[in-house]
Amino acid sequence: MDRNISIGEFHRRLLEEKSKACCPVKKYKLLWLIAALAVIIAFAMTWFQEARFNCIIIHHTASKTDNYASIKRYHKKKGLRDAAYHLVLSNGSTDIPLGNLEPTGRYLALTHAMAVRDVKYNLTGLHLCIVGNYETNEVPGYMKPVIAHAVRALQNKFGIPDDRLFFHRDVGKTKCPGKYFTKKDFLYWVRTMADQCPASIAAQQNEAVAAAPLSGGMVTIQQGIVMGAALLFFALGWIAFFHILSVFRQSKALKESKTGAGHCHPLLVGITLTSFNGMGAKG
Ligand SMILES: [Zn+2]
Repeated sequence: MDRNISIGEFHRRLLEEKSKACCPVKKYKLLWLIAALAVIIAFAMTWFQEARFNCIIIHHTASKTDNYASIKRYHKKKGLRDAAYHLVLSNGSTDIPLGNLEPTGRYLALTHAMAVRDVKYNLTGLHLCIVGNYETNEVPGYMKPVIAHAVRALQNKFGIPDDRLFFHRDVGKTKCPGKYFTKKDFLYWVRTMADQCPASIAAQQNEAVAAAPLSGGMVTIQQGIVMGAALLFFALGWIAFFHILSVFRQSKALKESKTGAGHCHPLLVGITLTSFNGMGAKG
């Protein structure tokens, strides 16, 4: 100990040390870490839901006949690892039955598409490719309820509203999905024809849509915030509990000790320091 300091200064230093020792920020490091984690989780989940799959983007293959396998082969030749889309809807032109929805590796892993030039829409859009050339051919009547059901199933799973249904040409310089595919017709099919989809096709499509790993458990913004808030309150609740407990303990110790040297609660330290300062001013 430095012998040159006054008793007042010694007390002040002692109290300072003690107040540090029971500072709630330093004392409950783990709980504060949980609280910080909660905030990060809430933000991350909010971002994830906000950033991923907030729209559906419709494409056509601009070919008469195709399916996931043939598109994958073609895109692999162009240097991609998988078909560029998340899902392929069959027009029945190959051994894949009409209306069957084929989830690609990108859908099963819920990863980005490579279907448009705009990175943002590759990251945030679910890309559905409908087999057929709708620049040269009208959409056959039997395809309309099939398309409607597939789109509705995806909308329901990912919570995507009608005003977030886009065509490739809405987000890039292209005619895709063709001049016979108009937004007005498409929205009409989606709104009125989904329940006209044959039951066996609807069942297959539902199964394909549910195949994504976050099936039914996609974290919504609200769920993310609720989870984060719950963690936060859990951590803060324990911090408050322990802190109040320590205040009681210290108050008890203070009562038992005549000098008051046993306490270390910051509030009491403050009061004690004020009285010291008052004494100093008088002295
Ligand atoms: Zn396209």
